[in-house]
Amino acid sequence: MQPTEAEWVGAYEAWSDEIDATLGAGRTVFRAACVATFDDEVGSPPTGRLEPLAATTRRGCAELTPAGWRRTQEDVVRALVSANSEPLPPRRRPALTEIASSSVGVRPKVYCWSPAAWVPFIEHYATLRGGEEVSLKGVADTARNRIDLDPSVCSSLGRYLRGIRPSKLSSENLYLAEALSVLTHQAEHLKAPSTSEAVAECRALQYVRPLVSATLGPEVATEIALHAWEIAYPRLPASFRSPGCRDGGPLDRNPGSSAWP
Ligand SMILES: [Zn+2]
Repeated sequence: MQPTEAEWVGAYEAWSDEIDATLGAGRTVFRAACVATFDDEVGSPPTGRLEPLAATTRRGCAELTPAGWRRTQEDVVRALVSANSEPLPPRRRPALTEIASSSVGVRPKVYCWSPAAWVPFIEHYATLRGGEEVSLKGVADTARNRIDLDPSVCSSLGRYLRGIRPSKLSSENLYLAEALSVLTHQAEHLKAPSTSEAVAECRALQYVRPLVSATLGPEVATEIALHAWEIAYPRLPASFRSPGCRDGGPLDRNPGSSAWP
């Protein structure tokens, strides 16, 4: 029986984990073994749109150094983005480039997805990334200088760009805080690909206040920044947080100021 797409991506992840582990242990994986185990344990994808993932991987079997394998995995994610964005292409939003530019100082191409395309994409992406704790509301592609965003993040940012103030005592405050953090977090990855999740997130947290202040005024900015710090930040996985991320701590961008974040 043919596997479903989700089952196939699951088998792919289990197989690629073994390759990771073998290379990580400093052992060699030969091309023939890579291709044979791939055909055995993963096999042909159930749908044509996943075929580029299989083709990319078989090509990657010829370049089994740790760095080569990392590039292959980036290519596989790229193939997954293309496969999922075909029927409903994500829309490029130049105004979101400006947000990343005025805060982080990078100019990525930023794309907003439709919910119908994002949901299946992010399920496959989460499976592919396996045990790694990843933010599932935004995906950064360093080589292409590109950020892909969850539709709910885009709608919060859209209201922000139109100068619409979140209603008091509503979840809109939190959504805006998270949306700005998601975009600037991914922008931090593009600025310096070696940045850890915890550092990217702590920097992202601190862009919320100036970004909101510029559009909606300082009073709203304090409220939204506190939502980011008191509600969103503690909910993040441990690998996204750091003890240095506090007022006056080593990750404080304005150590001289007592305004935090
Ligand atoms: Zn990240």
